[in-house]
Amino acid sequence: MVGAPLNKTSLPSANGTRTTTTLSSDSVLALNTGDPTMFEPFWQKMGDKCDVLIRGSDLMSYYSDKNNVCWFLEPELGDAIKRLHGVVGNAVTDDRHIVLGTGSTHLFQALLYALTAPAAPEPEPVSVVSSAPYYSLYPEMIEILHSGLYKWAGDAYTFNKDGRPYIEVVNSPNNPDGTHREAVVNGGKGKVIYDFAYYWPQYTAITSAADHDIMLFTLSKCTGHAGSRIGWALVKDKDIAEKMTDYIAISSIGVSKESQVRAAKVIGVLCDGCENVGLAESENFFEFSRNLMAKRWQKLREALKQSECFTLFKHPREHCLFTGEFTKTLPAYAWLKCKEGIEDCNEFLRGLKIVGRGGKAFGVDPIFARVSMLSREDEFNQFIERLVVATKGISNGH
Ligand code: PMP
Repeated sequence: MVGAPLNKTSLPSANGTRTTTTLSSDSVLALNTGDPTMFEPFWQKMGDKCDVLIRGSDLMSYYSDKNNVCWFLEPELGDAIKRLHGVVGNAVTDDRHIVLGTGSTHLFQALLYALTAPAAPEPEPVSVVSSAPYYSLYPEMIEILHSGLYKWAGDAYTFNKDGRPYIEVVNSPNNPDGTHREAVVNGGKGKVIYDFAYYWPQYTAITSAADHDIMLFTLSKCTGHAGSRIGWALVKDKDIAEKMTDYIAISSIGVSKESQVRAAKVIGVLCDGCENVGLAESENFFEFSRNLMAKRWQKLREALKQSECFTLFKHPREHCLFTGEFTKTLPAYAWLKCKEGIEDCNEFLRGLKIVGRGGKAFGVDPIFARVSMLSREDEFNQFIERLVVATKGISNGH
């Protein structure tokens, strides 16, 4: 890899402006989290359209709307969320309560509480399962508290439900492998949480408006504004929505109003762009981000075409109601499988100074590893360069 070109990258400084540093072929590439910085160029292009002015006297109360189940949800954000789902067509919002969280991470925990703290508690903690490979934070979030209400019970495919209540988490398209998922533990006293973090047009075809009882969404993976920490749940059952709200009230007395106002603005600008409202040219975020994802996936597949080291999962093409075209799934992560002779994919990547996340964290074999596709452009290009070099090295017998 000696002699590979140096790339310029910019890092946020303490005051939020950017300082330029150099990303060299020697730098460690931290691609182990799904930090969605690849979307920054779109929002830079939007200039001051998303600016919000918040005065010293604004947004001081804990409350937003005392008549709403989720009393800390700013009505303008509730309206923006409904508009967004209407524009994209990925979820039904009618007859649903919107519960807001500090990211959907917060809402997942609120749901665990809401679904397992009935009037008469179960004699044993309720099992929570998800089909492997599952999002690595599910077991972490569940196990951290050693709760008496719920426990992590691993892969949904091998779960013996035994007639007892359980919760299944369905993540579709799935982190880490991008597959489309349905619940696999059928019948009985199960409740299903649908985590739709990636059910947005830049990652997958929108095949229908999801219409489940409990659905989670996050701004982080929709617009890329992970730092605002805004997630929402669409919940049919009022009791569950109330219990979730109680959990959020007890754990943080609501969700930052400043973040809510910014999220409402960003979502509004995104929807205007998709609908071409009052704009000179198309400023469709999903078109922009989908094109960028498609280019990245093309580069990755090209780089791994002749690879002696890795294989990639093949994803189907489906008709997307949002774009009106047949589109490929373009997952937020590369789910790499090592070929014979390499037992630990993550260790192999480490040798290339690429930090991914190994298969074990997702409940599967270490021959798999996950690498984020959502990094800044220069980091992504470095990732590809290193894969190409590794592939050539192996085929030359090094
Ligand atoms: N669900 C899945 C499947 C995710 O990948 C993530 C983020 N990595 C989340 C939920 C949580 O997102 P956030 O807390 O940023 O809203």
